Amino acid sequence: MRRRYDVVIIGGGIAGASLAYWLAELGMNRVALIEREDRPGVHASGRSAKVFLSMSDSPFEQAVVLQAGHFFRQPPADLSDVPFLHAAGVLLLYDEADWSRARERAEQLRNMGGTVKEVSADEAGTRMPVPCKADVAGGLWFPDEGYLDVGRLLAAYIGAAYRKGVDVFFNTSFHGLLRNGDALTGIVTGAGTCETKWVVNAAGAWAGHVGVIARATRIGFSCYRRTVISFDIPAALGGQRPEAPPKRARTFPGWARAAQAREQARNGRQTQPDWTTPMPERTALGTALPAPLPVADWPFISFESRHLYFGHEDGGLLASPMDEDLVKPGDPAPNPAVIERTRDRLQRLVPAIAPQFLRGSRAGLRTFARDRQLVLGEDPALGGFFWLAGQGGWGIESSPVIGRVAAELMVRGKSSWPDEGAIEALSPARFVRS
Ligand SMILES: Cc1cc2nc3c(=O)[nH]c(=O)nc-3n(C[C@H](O)[C@H](O)[C@H](O)COP(=O)(O)OP(=O)(O)OC[C@H]3O[C@@H](n4cnc5c(N)ncnc54)[C@H](O)[C@@H]3O)c2cc1C
Repeated sequence: MRRRYDVVIIGGGIAGASLAYWLAELGMNRVALIEREDRPGVHASGRSAKVFLSMSDSPFEQAVVLQAGHFFRQPPADLSDVPFLHAAGVLLLYDEADWSRARERAEQLRNMGGTVKEVSADEAGTRMPVPCKADVAGGLWFPDEGYLDVGRLLAAYIGAAYRKGVDVFFNTSFHGLLRNGDALTGIVTGAGTCETKWVVNAAGAWAGHVGVIARATRIGFSCYRRTVISFDIPAALGGQRPEAPPKRARTFPGWARAAQAREQARNGRQTQPDWTTPMPERTALGTALPAPLPVADWPFISFESRHLYFGHEDGGLLASPMDEDLVKPGDPAPNPAVIERTRDRLQRLVPAIAPQFLRGSRAGLRTFARDRQLVLGEDPALGGFFWLAGQGGWGIESSPVIGRVAAELMVRGKSSWPDEGAIEALSPARFVRS
């Protein structure tokens, strides 16, 4: 480590990496990033579903993601000469109870310049790559949205920052701050001690802990585990692999038998998933596609009201039951019961793809402040300590904009985001009791 830096960033996830990139872009050249793991993106950033979707309850979040879309479609030349976004489309499906609220949010998004089309249940069916058994009220179709190449994005942020002089230290933990009286003067890390003007808390699920060690303003964060399973696409739908257990596949022997028994009990007969069987009218959201669509072009599909999404990943499929179990900061393992629940929902809603074997499963943490808004800005009680935390479920898709805003606040004292009030509202000062 050098003896003196302008900024030391704690955390090599997407938040820390995007900030390092923007600080270097804005000419801040004495920057260090420290990451406790041996590589970037080991935690939340490496476990996401990689989806880019502008739909949100918050108009600010919608505006940020719409803006980030330009960046992902046409990235700066020093990051990539191909887009980070594969716009295969996103289809959100709703039951009657949620449909009118969804339409309001879609209207709001259109007024902000977003492209979203309301589709009837029938039309939604024509967008589905596989038939599904759900009686939905309608859907929202986002033709310009889809999947992000997160691995490449993370590597590009860190690579470009490194080329511009940012020092990157892996296997390096934050231990504490140096102070002169109440003022922050430096940082103690596993790689040494140095002076610095700024220390950035981009520690994801551990942001609360880092804040406590720094003796900064107390901000409580909650971490919610989310589970993703990945599996092969059946050969009948264009899958490349044979439908036999791959050598290293994790098998869940209980699954197939238990699901079959449940189906039999429900229907009184054998019901192996058979996508060629026409679904009964009214409960079928069939496919009008003449031939199997290559899996890389499958849209991302989310049954919002039924808590299930699926899409493609690495030539296969992923799915999540959109679980939100409150857990402690850490490295969560997937819960077998949640995996089973995911498989059950697939079996009920899209039996054509319900897997017998898994390629793998993962769980990661989505970390939220109490009000579920980002925490972005200088600590009100500890000058030089900067919070970039609480990204929840949108840290990747927001990273080009939020990373830039954070860098501008440090370098210029104000950001170029048009609504300054919206940025001020994210300040950690909101957690100080008046
Ligand atoms: C299953 C799942 C699906 C998701 N899907 C999407 C999606 O489709 N789209 C989207 O935009 N977002 C998605 N998210 C949310 C997104 O992944 C997060 O918002 C984002 O990754 C948070 O990034 P981060 O850098 O803050 O945290 P992290 O990636 O967790 O990075 C924080 C880093 O800080 C390091 N660290 C912690 N303490 C210390 C210390 N003391 N010293 C040094 N280093 C330390 C950690 O090792 C870690 O690498 C998903 C999340 C999950 C779990």
